Amino acid sequence: MRSGDTLARLSGDEFTILLENVTNVSNVVVIAERIAEQLQSSFYIEQQEVFITASIGIACNTSGKERPEDFLRNADAAMYEVKNKGKAHYKVFDLNTKSYAQKHIRLEAELRRAIEHEEFLVYYQPVIQLETGKICEVEALVRWQHPQRGLVSPADFIPIAEETGLIVAIGQWVLQTACKQAQMWQLKYPNQPPLILNVNLSPKQFQQPKIAEKIIQTLNETGLNPYCLKLEITESMVMENEETTIAMLRKLKELGIQLAIDDFGVGFSALNYLKQFPIDTLKIDRAFINGLGQSVTDTAIVHAIIAFAKALNLSITAEGIETVEQITQLRALKCDRAQGYYFAKPLTIEVFNSFLELSYLYSAKQNTHFCYQNGLANQGMLTCSLQANYQNKT
Ligand code: C2E
Ligand code: CA
Ligand code: CA
Repeated sequence: MRSGDTLARLSGDEFTILLENVTNVSNVVVIAERIAEQLQSSFYIEQQEVFITASIGIACNTSGKERPEDFLRNADAAMYEVKNKGKAHYKVFDLNTKSYAQKHIRLEAELRRAIEHEEFLVYYQPVIQLETGKICEVEALVRWQHPQRGLVSPADFIPIAEETGLIVAIGQWVLQTACKQAQMWQLKYPNQPPLILNVNLSPKQFQQPKIAEKIIQTLNETGLNPYCLKLEITESMVMENEETTIAMLRKLKELGIQLAIDDFGVGFSALNYLKQFPIDTLKIDRAFINGLGQSVTDTAIVHAIIAFAKALNLSITAEGIETVEQITQLRALKCDRAQGYYFAKPLTIEVFNSFLELSYLYSAKQNTHFCYQNGLANQGMLTCSLQANYQNKT
């Protein structure tokens, strides 16, 4: 900064710099870049090396009519855009930022309304046991049935739900709905091994002080046995806030609830946490499965993850299976379970019920599995393909 510029700390980790007498926005950008560059060096806090990044939003005096609060609001909107698009950058406020910020505000309001009006749906995606080809688990995946826009994918609303804390209510609803459903399947098919229900837990949900109690209460209310619930969390979630996290996870574990690390391999992978946390399952991210048998690196990574999980006594679910070749490879590697479009996309409860019915109908045959070909789902038809083994023709 130049002497005469003002630096203020507005709140926790928010700082504001006021640059007066700037003739050109490019001069401001130079300063933003300089700040970002300075912050690249690490800091030492109690001998621990830490890194930080800055998201910088810039608002300029363009009309001469801006009030101080306009500057702050515009800079804030620009900063949020930077944050949402991946941090560690700067953004100069412009009309796009304005519409981005407005869209953001509108989405938040709509989400609040959606919670009130219960506009959410749970879709279910089967998880298949590779050795037997039979369905063994199911993942609950939320959808938003928007009155005008139709079905909205979680990728389009979970980030804002997370940021605003609305995910807590949405996530609780998903847990409750899916547990109730899983309990109903058990009553309907008492002679089948119970399906293990996988539910995603968001960081905000996870940070709630009484989350373990809430989950236990939900299980009590729905009657689902804790052994039939597997919570999916991400690596970054277990790495923050370690002590309280360990205590909470142990509590869930003692009750019999299973824990899985979702999207394994794409996060920080500071493997040390696996030693301390009572994890049952690693879900290998689709990014690696995609390249299985095609990319040397991806194939090596999948081999390594499976070997590593076996050594630590963890079970493995491979995500994003789209081809028979991937299944063949994963079976050879003795991967436990697989989930992906090859078997079925996430299905509405009605279609999933048919899937389950057929799946059990054919489960008497050895070495068969069947898939639900999704193209036909749109026509409301259900098809099942039986395979004598994975190599044979359908
Ligand atoms: P995720 O937990 O990793 O879920 C798997 C995602 O991969 C799902 O996307 C699923 O539809 C997709 N997928 C599964 N198999 C295949 C495949 O073979 N090929 C391809 N290309 N994709 C496949 P979806 O349902 O859109 O969910 C996206 C993410 O949103 C989820 O990723 C999860 O992180 C989040 N999410 C979904 N439901 C919930 C929820 O109830 N709570 C929370 N906190 N997050 C949720
Ligand atoms: Ca998941
Ligand atoms: Ca995943």
